[in-house]
This record gives sequence, C-alpha cells and structure tokens, in this order.
Amino acid sequence: MIERTYLDWNATAPLRDEARDALQAALALVGNPSSVHAEGRAARHLVERARDEVAALVGARPAGVIFTSSGTEANMLALTPAIEVAGDKRPRDRLFMPTIEHSSVRAGGRFPREAIEDIAADADGRVQLAALADALAKTARPLLSLMLANNETGVVQPVAEAAAMVHAAGGLLHVDVVQAVGRIACDIGTLGADFLTLSAHKIGGPKGVGALVRASETLHFADPLIRGGGQERGLRAGTENVAGIAAFGAAAAAARRRLAEEAAHMRALRDQLEAGLRAITPQAVIFGGAAERLPNTTLFALQGVKAETAIIAFDLEGVAVSSGAACSSGKVSPSHVLAAMGVSPALSRGALRVSLGPTTTQADVERFLNAWRKVSGALSKGSGARRGMAA
Ligand code: PLP
Repeated sequence: MIERTYLDWNATAPLRDEARDALQAALALVGNPSSVHAEGRAARHLVERARDEVAALVGARPAGVIFTSSGTEANMLALTPAIEVAGDKRPRDRLFMPTIEHSSVRAGGRFPREAIEDIAADADGRVQLAALADALAKTARPLLSLMLANNETGVVQPVAEAAAMVHAAGGLLHVDVVQAVGRIACDIGTLGADFLTLSAHKIGGPKGVGALVRASETLHFADPLIRGGGQERGLRAGTENVAGIAAFGAAAAAARRRLAEEAAHMRALRDQLEAGLRAITPQAVIFGGAAERLPNTTLFALQGVKAETAIIAFDLEGVAVSSGAACSSGKVSPSHVLAAMGVSPALSRGALRVSLGPTTTQADVERFLNAWRKVSGALSKGSGARRGMAA
C-alpha cells in the first residue's frame, strides 16, 4: 500500500493517543451521568473532568461550558436574539457577521434573515474594522460573530479590537475559535469574547462533539436548542455523549500542555513548505500571506491549475490536501472567503489548502513538495499532460 501524507488537518485531525485512551475507557462504563448511583456518578465524573479541561484550554470557568454535538451546533446555539445578560431580557436586535465566516455561522443561526448584516473583509482576509464601526453605529443591541482564525486562509482576525468596539456599542461578541484553539493562544478573557465555539475533532478529539463556552454564567440563552431532560444547564437536552466528551477533555488537556511546542513545530514546517512552494513555482499566490496567520495553514493557487484536478493528482501521489473552497458533498464550489477578499473566480478555482498538524514530519513536507513539482509541471502544461498524469 502506498504510504500516505495527511495534510488536511483543518478538515479534521487524527485522534490523539490520550483521546483514544479516554474514549475507550469511557465506552467501558455503563452509567448515565444523570443517575445518582455509583455507575452514574462515575460517568458524571468523566463529563465534569472534561468540562474542567475544556474550560482550562480557553481560560474560562467550567460552569461556562455547554457541551454540544459539534462546532456547528455550538454556533447554532450561540446565534440567537434571545440572549439575556444579567437578567436583561431585551433581545439582540441585529447579528453582524464578516463575509469570511464559516458556513455554520453564515447560516445565521436563529436570527431572521432581515436582522443579519454582512461586514466586509479586506484583501488580506481580515474583517474591516471601519465597516464594523459603521454598522455598530446603526444599532442598539448587536451581536457580532467573528472567527479567531479562518479555516481556509488561516488569517487571524483582530478579535480584541472588535471586542472593544462591540462592547462600547452595548453589544455582545461570539468568537468561533474552532480552527485557532490548540494552534495559537486562545484565552476568552484576553480575546474579550462573551462566548466561544470549539470543536473536538480539530484538536485531536473525536468528531461529533463541540462546546459553547461562556465567559460568564450571567449570560443566558433563553431559547434552548434542544428541550427535554434539562442536561447541559437546560440548553442542550439529551443524555450526554460521555465517551466523546471524555475524549474531547483529554484532547483539550494535551493541546493545552503542548501548545507552544506544537505551534513552533508546525510553523517551522509550514515555513519550509512555503519556501519550497515559492522556489518551485515563484508565480504561485499565497492567500493572506501578508497577514498574521495560523502556524499550520497555507492556501495557495497557481494560475491555470484547477483545484479539483490537482487534489486528485496529489491523492495519486499519496498526499491528502483540500481545495480552499467549500467541498461538502465532494463537489467544489467557489470559495466565499476568497470572493470576499476580491480574488478572481479564475484564480480562486485553483485554491489548494495545505494544513499541518503536530505529527506532520519533515518527510511529509518533502513528499508534498516532490508531488507539487510533478503536479504543477504536468497540470500547467495543458490537457495532454493532464491525461498523462491520470494514466
Ligand atoms: N467553525 C469553523 C471555523 C470550522 O472550520 C468548522 C469545521 O470545519 C466548524 C465551525 C464546524 O465544526 P464541526 O465540524 O464540529 O461542526
């Protein structure tokens, strides 16, 4: 079997050993965390330990953590007009969201369409703070949803500046830290966020577990997403995914412990990868290259090379990368992030995302560069060469 190089960590990360051990140990338990007997208490203990670990990862208090079935669900829970602050029940009148947000935020949660307003991004892929200031001036009780780092470009957003602006305008700030956490410092207090979205599978936990983390328990969501038995402070009913949550906690603890070391490792390899990319194809464009980015992400394109064809060619070389575009059903559609940055559709169609992780090696980077040498050479020569590659 051909050896594989996995460079699609922003799509999902392999399970960490600690998470796999925690998952297996939890699956062996029988109890329901809501039961009062010893079996129930053992399950509850795992859920609460994980709550402590997830809270610690982002500098929050455990009571602020609401476990959900995914990052998508946490975004859905967060984006509602019915957010009460210290008993103030007046609804949020407007949701602002940059055009570069993830599709699970762009969907707008439970806000009516007419209450949602876009905030433009600049050519580097950062939200335009001047546009945000104009928007905030028009409203009394806004909610801003702003990601800490973009999943396609890796560009880090000016969250602390936006937090100051939105709070001065009487608003609240939700920050999707799904791609940032475990890769850059991500402290809820330093960011100035009111609540954060996390997803386990981007930090080496299992798929299908996420969390909404509140800075303060005085922040209350008046319309629970799932009503029923009152689990997760009445906000997300249903017997907890004990094994998934326990593994999320283990992944969070490992990510927190190793953040500095893993980030430095990824950054060194990513810089080496980009240097190689520039040497092989000096005309390639690295999107957001002038901005502060995550240490693990490169989104690039070479005029004349289509992403769909390149991904298949890489795959045949044993290298897993993705297109920068949304690719939810195997069909590549133009990236709304690159469109928001003013990138031409022709160039955007070629966008390839390479995302590294803590266990990526130098050999992986060399393999990617060797594959790129072949792929870029063959694909930019035209269709005859393309047929040759697929053979
Ligand atoms: N937010 C961002 C920035 C993401 O990249 C993703 C997943 O790609 C999500 C939210 C959704 O997370 P999940 O896959 O857990 O639903």
